[in-house]
Amino acid sequence: MSAPLRDKRPMRIALQGMLADEIGGCSGCGVCIKECGFLRLHGSPRELCRAYDPEDLKKNAVCFECSLCGLCNAVCPEKLNPQGLFLEMRREAVERGHGNFPEHKGLISYEKTGTSRRFSWYGLPNGCTTIFFPGCALPGTRPAATMEVYNKLKEAIPALGLVMDCCTKPSHDLGRQEYFLKMFGEMVDWLETGGVKRVLVACPNCYKVFSEYAPQFRTETVYETLADILPEQTQKNNSPPATIHDPCVVRANAAPQAAVRDLLAKAGQLIEEMPHTGQTALCCGEGGTVGALAPDLADGWGERRAAEAAGRRVITYCAGCANHLGKRLQVSHLLDVIFNTPKPSSGPITYLNRLRLKSRFKKIVPAKVTRERTTIGSGILKPLIFLTTLVALIFLVRISGVGQYLEPEKLRALFASFGIAAPLIYIAFYTFAPALMLPGLPISIAGATVFGPVWGVVYTIIGATMGACVAFIISRYFAREWVERRLVGSRWNKLDSETAENGWKAVAFTRLIPLFPFNLLNFAFGLTKIRFLHYAIATFIFMLPGTIAFITFSSSLLGLLKGKVSPEFFIGITLIALVSMLPKIIRWQKSRKERAATPPAVWSLKKSLQRKVLGGGLLALTALAVYVVIQKFFWAIDAYLYTIEFNLLFISSRLKDGDLAQFVEYLRPMSHLRAGGIALASQAMQAFAAPFSALKSVVAFATAFGTTTGLLLSWSAAVIVSCAAVCIGRFLLGDILPLLNRSKGLNPLSPCAAWLSWSAALILALPPLPLVLPALLIGAIRLAPLRTFAIFSAGLTVRILISVFTG
Ligand code: SF4
Ligand code: SF4
Repeated sequence: MSAPLRDKRPMRIALQGMLADEIGGCSGCGVCIKECGFLRLHGSPRELCRAYDPEDLKKNAVCFECSLCGLCNAVCPEKLNPQGLFLEMRREAVERGHGNFPEHKGLISYEKTGTSRRFSWYGLPNGCTTIFFPGCALPGTRPAATMEVYNKLKEAIPALGLVMDCCTKPSHDLGRQEYFLKMFGEMVDWLETGGVKRVLVACPNCYKVFSEYAPQFRTETVYETLADILPEQTQKNNSPPATIHDPCVVRANAAPQAAVRDLLAKAGQLIEEMPHTGQTALCCGEGGTVGALAPDLADGWGERRAAEAAGRRVITYCAGCANHLGKRLQVSHLLDVIFNTPKPSSGPITYLNRLRLKSRFKKIVPAKVTRERTTIGSGILKPLIFLTTLVALIFLVRISGVGQYLEPEKLRALFASFGIAAPLIYIAFYTFAPALMLPGLPISIAGATVFGPVWGVVYTIIGATMGACVAFIISRYFAREWVERRLVGSRWNKLDSETAENGWKAVAFTRLIPLFPFNLLNFAFGLTKIRFLHYAIATFIFMLPGTIAFITFSSSLLGLLKGKVSPEFFIGITLIALVSMLPKIIRWQKSRKERAATPPAVWSLKKSLQRKVLGGGLLALTALAVYVVIQKFFWAIDAYLYTIEFNLLFISSRLKDGDLAQFVEYLRPMSHLRAGGIALASQAMQAFAAPFSALKSVVAFATAFGTTTGLLLSWSAAVIVSCAAVCIGRFLLGDILPLLNRSKGLNPLSPCAAWLSWSAALILALPPLPLVLPALLIGAIRLAPLRTFAIFSAGLTVRILISVFTG
């Protein structure tokens, strides 16, 4: 039988150096062996190094039984580094493919959960340079304590950011160096780009990872900050003395150890130290994932700790240590002691706690830049599958002959043939059509002609919204991650986060304006960070006006083909015109706001008078020129002017003598256009020639043309006349208020008091009072045109109604 092929590649350089150091430097004193159950079982570090064979699977597994606790390093008189050596051996084993144990799968999957999109969340407020990094175990077991820590830190650091993610220490300890560096490196790059300079961690394992692998940040534990900001407890603490378990990962870090003791002293908790504490702290048994391959060794560490605790309560500041030691000891987390938080959770509840905490943080952290973790890798596969499938499906649809049904008439026949199930078939068809890039126009036309204007709108809006959502979900699932990985840099991050918050506005805008391609937009929005619910709701609401307009119009098409013009046709056309005008209205609104934001022009009496003289002169010259031209060349118009003059004289007489019967007879045969002219003349005369007389003409118009038309004609005429009076008021009196304001040291163009405008509205509403008076007043106080129009509309409506009912 031939011997198995050996991997001839050389050992990692770092490992070669460490092996040489250990073999050459170890005196075999046995101090480390006395402290460590693992070494007692397998021999001294020097012996293990001498026997080491990277290709021997059995010997390779040995290094995975070391807790990586570093106690050997701490006690070694030769200052050797057996812990680092065993870690290097793990890395070597993983590189050679001998380091993958099924027993580690649970831990790897726990880590993956922590780094997943669902569980991770990054939130950086404006000006954030410090983040709170709670880790995985603490938020899972103690969400209330995690929240307390955040709130306390926030008081001291207003621009505090928050990052929920896993530092990937499990992968680090399992020797999965490449994966660890990739994952942790990506996190560090993102934070650095976001301007983070300081990291406050709650977990000692995260502390070790950040301190060792991200020296660009100032890493501290939250306990150091809490020790600075929390006051001393005034209430007497009657609990019996407890003891402290320092997590082995921070054995060499005096600052967190001192802060923890300080916090306990402030809480009035008496402390008695165990023999192995601080620098020589013992592992809790969970270090290095030993429990997976050598549960007895892990238990050994725990039992030793229990023996040293000697029945006293153990207080620790690592949620992992608290879990592990809690199996055989009375253990509290430091945060349980200082915040008196509820009993820690365990099992599946811990995952639920993390999700709930994430959603809470998303609400309370005033983050300007946010993100959720995406998996590492080129990730081109998913978008590629998506694109290929999409193209294949579109191609299939086209060559399968389905395309022949895409004519409205055929679609109509198809849907109609399903009878009672037609609405469901229609909605289902519409749900998948956008994802297959099938045009929505013929489907909508078919729906409108089959179901009519009301149910056509209902089914179409449901189907189109569902179709938009399906396309969105597909592109979000297959291609968003790929896009997200390419959006690097703070500018992109900010933009991406803003889309999450305000993206619905873009959806609303593009849905309102039917010019944007519907099918492409659905996919495009899926690539952004817009929340799905925002997208779906905005799509439904803002697609509704366009759908109503289009379906109402389309439902009249069948009748139109038969030569019948239905009311739906006109309503549809009007609605389509209105919807098409929406962009213009939105732009106008926007520019109005911008104009309002710009400072008002500087008023000057000289310039105002110059403008008035110029305007008045031009007007007089134009009138004279028109009069001369008409006199000289257009005698027919001149003759017509006589007719107008006659009409005016007639109106004037009727207004004076109040002979309404004659006035009605005079109006009745007129077209609406001509009647409009007469209404205008009547209102003008009423306003300027007989300002205190009752509005008799309104009654005459209502009698001659019916109440609605008559009132509309009178109302429109009154608005026009009032506007003319406002212009006159502005022309004659418009400079008084600015002059007064200036003399009082105020802004000459400052708006007038609101009560003046409401007084004008009141005068307008009462018929015996002259209409010209409020108009002149409004002109004099230089009221803004929109408010002027509102006042006139309201005041004149009341005035005309009173005139009719009292006439
Ligand atoms: S790191 Fe800890 S478990 Fe590993 S050899 Fe050293 S003392 Fe023993
Ligand atoms: S304590 Fe140091 S010198 Fe002594 S046996 Fe252990 S590794 Fe060797």
